[in-house]
Amino acid sequence: MSIFEVNIRIHFMALLSISLLEAFFKKEKETALFGRWIRFSDIAPLIHTYEKYTTVKQIGLSEQQRPIYSIQLGTGKKKILVWSQMHGNESTGTKSIFDLLNTLTQSSEACVQQILNTCTLQIIPMLNPDGAEVYTRVNSKKIDLNRDAVARTAIESKILRHTLDSFQPDFCFNLHDQRTIFGVEGTSKPATISFLAPSEDVNRTLTAGRKQTMNIIVAMNNLLQKVIPNGVGRYTDEFYPTATGDNFQKLGYNTILIEAGHYPDDYEREITRKYHFYALLQGIHHIVSNDDYAVYKPYFDIPNNIKNFYDVVHRYPNQNRSCDAYQYEEKIIKNTLVFDLQKVAEKQIENPLSHNEILFEA
Ligand SMILES: [Zn+2]
Repeated sequence: MSIFEVNIRIHFMALLSISLLEAFFKKEKETALFGRWIRFSDIAPLIHTYEKYTTVKQIGLSEQQRPIYSIQLGTGKKKILVWSQMHGNESTGTKSIFDLLNTLTQSSEACVQQILNTCTLQIIPMLNPDGAEVYTRVNSKKIDLNRDAVARTAIESKILRHTLDSFQPDFCFNLHDQRTIFGVEGTSKPATISFLAPSEDVNRTLTAGRKQTMNIIVAMNNLLQKVIPNGVGRYTDEFYPTATGDNFQKLGYNTILIEAGHYPDDYEREITRKYHFYALLQGIHHIVSNDDYAVYKPYFDIPNNIKNFYDVVHRYPNQNRSCDAYQYEEKIIKNTLVFDLQKVAEKQIENPLSHNEILFEA
């Protein structure tokens, strides 16, 4: 073997430009959606405006008879399925989906046209409208849809699975929110966006499909590191036998989990929403413009997502450097979402990380 046959490959990944993404977000952000509590009544009027540009289908009714919609656009061969709010109180992905829909239906930019010509997207903006109504993770029968992929007890789980079986996507995006407790291991940053390429078995085997999923995540992470350096985490890939992503990946449908998390001072998740939109568009762009999935190892360079943050810490430096730690509990009170601060640890933690710190000198 000559020296020239040594396998040296420069893995160049074509990323979207940040200035283009900024311009898209500025122009196409769906301003009718804001904050954390997004209900079916917030998205229903928007969905009907897309009937002009896309195929809007009602794919079923929730347990409490709220419509579940899918919006389909693009004419290409690669198929991408996106769903959000399978956990009713996790709405950041829903907001960024509408920013994405505005971009894809309004922009004449080459990268947008390439997406529409190369792939067919099916988007379910709210899989669990009953949970969204009352701001719960679970559906109206208290079922966690993300642990119901095998039993499919919930009607919403059946609807998602039917969509998967009939559409047979090449890639899925499973959109969630994570709590403010999550940070990026080895940094002092919160995990603003976290990713997972779910395992197909307990041994976490690196199957060809998982490597493809990881490759898309590598592209999204490369982009995000430019705008939120060290703000991206990697979820544990422990196999969950009943989880949606693990089962879809096992069935051969590459599934990318995105968890929207905290950005400093952004409890409404409006800044996270922007970076989530960047990641989603970059991921789709990468799928349409790339057929080489060789680069997957940098996925493992993304630091772990760990539980290391409190919302508020009170420090008492004159009392043996001790402190109290608090977390917000999210509650609906009188039809308003309230962040209720609760003490969770007292005078026992050394130098905890927090999103807000108050110093008591006395
Ligand atoms: Zn979730």
